[in-house]
Order: sequence, then C-alpha cells, then structure tokens
Amino acid sequence: MSVLVVGSVALDSVETPFGKAEEALGGSATFFSASASLLCPVQLVGVVGSDFPVSQLEPLASRGVDLAGLERADGESFRWRGRYRHDLNSAETLETRLGVFSHFRPKIPEQFRRAPFVFLGNIDPRLQLDVLRQVERPRLVACDTMNFWIESRRPDLLELLGHVDIITLNDAEARQLTEEYNLVRAARWIMERGPKHVIIKKGEHGAFMFTAQTVFYAPAFPLESVFDPTGAGDAFAGGFIGYLARSGDLSEPNLRRAVVYGSAMGSFAVERFSIERFLEIGPQDIRHRVREFHRLVSFEQDMTA
Ligand code: AMP
Repeated sequence: MSVLVVGSVALDSVETPFGKAEEALGGSATFFSASASLLCPVQLVGVVGSDFPVSQLEPLASRGVDLAGLERADGESFRWRGRYRHDLNSAETLETRLGVFSHFRPKIPEQFRRAPFVFLGNIDPRLQLDVLRQVERPRLVACDTMNFWIESRRPDLLELLGHVDIITLNDAEARQLTEEYNLVRAARWIMERGPKHVIIKKGEHGAFMFTAQTVFYAPAFPLESVFDPTGAGDAFAGGFIGYLARSGDLSEPNLRRAVVYGSAMGSFAVERFSIERFLEIGPQDIRHRVREFHRLVSFEQDMTA
C-alpha cells in the first residue's frame, strides 16, 4: 500500500560539531520519502521554487517516490538554517525562509486522493488541514509539527488534532503544545483532543508510543558517531508509517514493530548529512539494524525473583 506525504522540500544549511552543509537537500517531505520509500511506494506533495536543483530528487524518483504532486512555483525555495552544538538532541533554528511556501496551496493530484496512508509532514497546520479536505477517508492519518507552528498557528494545530489518528512530535514540542512538563500527562492531553496514538520522540533517548491504555518504548540505536541529527524525526515517521503501509496491519503488536522501524530509520538519517545515508542502504541493512534493536532490548526475566 502507498503513503501520501505532504511537507516541506527544502534547502538546508546545517552546522554540527562535525562539519557544515550549505543548501543541502532537506525538508520534512524529503526526509520522510527517503526513509519510507525503502519500505513502500510514496506519493509526494510539496512545492519548490525556480531555484531548486530538481535533479537532486532523481534518486528518490527512481526508487518509487512519485513526484507528480511536486509543484514548481516562481520564487525562492523554502530554506532552513540550523545549528547543533554539543547537545545533538536540539536544533537551534537560525533562519526560516518560507519562500514559495508562504503562498502554497497543496493540490492533491487525482491519482493520489485515495491513498490509504497519509502523513502530514511538518508544515503550516492550515495546509495540513487543507490536504485532509482533498483526500478520501484514508485508513490512517498521521501528522508531525514543530515549535515554529505551535507558536504561530496554535488554533489551527488544535483543530488538526481532531482529524488525525497519530501524531509524532518530540519531547520539547509536546511540552510546548500542552504546557505539561510530564510526558505521560502531555500525551494524555493530546489524546483527549483526538489522536488515539501519540508518539513522543526523545532524540538519542528513544521514543514512546502512548495509547489510552498502553505505553511502548523503543530506544534509539546507540551509534558510536552521530553526524547530523537533521531529519531524524521525519525519517522516524517514514520508517513508522512506511512499515505500517507495507504490512497493512494496524494491530497494536504491529504498531509497536513499526516504532522500532521508525527508530531504525531515524538512526540511519543521522549518520550523514541530508538524505545521503538513505541512498546507500537497502532492505538488508534495515533488516540487520532491526535485528540489532531486537538484541538490544531482549533479556530473560528471572522467574524466581
Ligand atoms: P527534523 O526531522 O525535525 O530534524 O526536521 C528537519 C527538517 O525540517 C529540515 O530538513 C528542515 O528543512 C525542515 N523544517 C525546518 N523548519 C521547518 C518549518 N517551519 N516548516 C517545515 N519544515 C521545516
């Protein structure tokens, strides 16, 4: 089954303690697609400006990302500039230039409107809502967001919560949105407003998936070197939704497995700048990393204690 993703397609300039990248391919839809397309077909909707190096998207197209919904508009592409200091868990945004995104109205191509899985990547929640008006009752709708939109579009974001099944966000965003410091309470606050599943990512400390009755936790993969954390959240979402779309199974055990796929794909994202790592890996590498996750968390309980 395929996944429809709507989100930013960006030029990122990133500085980490290990190096710098200028105007590298980035954006929520780009990272999501690079990750999910290793698991299932992806349909991308977004916008780029006339200055965008479209040829850099060819490797994604050749591995099953349908770019029929990528609009080319007159003007500047979306640009994000960020920096990570030694705490690689939190990006410091130095500049956000919306460019053609400020006038963007997503137009979902006819052939994308029946996508069973929809991921509303991190963009203006008004646009995320606009997308939902154009699709035909998907089996599953998930969304992401970030501090920028929590601050500037709070009422729209709260409206969006009433229309999604799953939200993924990081711990700082969950606290900012709910004004609850405790993440269990924050998740409950969000679930009371719509989503049945809330995934709270904690960077190198893993991710929690909350439902009304259960909590599941997957660690982040303990990598020896994290190069650039940009896109880890979107790659996580790509692994999570991509795995659900591939299996078509929305049972609780499968959702838990999907969280592990999310963590695995997030761990690949941070090994290089931009989407570079996803262009090197294949199904074998994913299978191998998921197996390592299994080893990482399994232990035998002492039944006599
Ligand atoms: P993350 O997975 O959270 O690290 O997402 C990183 C990506 O988000 C970068 O590639 C940026 O281009 C993109 N991004 C940053 N700010 C925004 C924003 N306000 N709206 C949409 N995308 C953004």
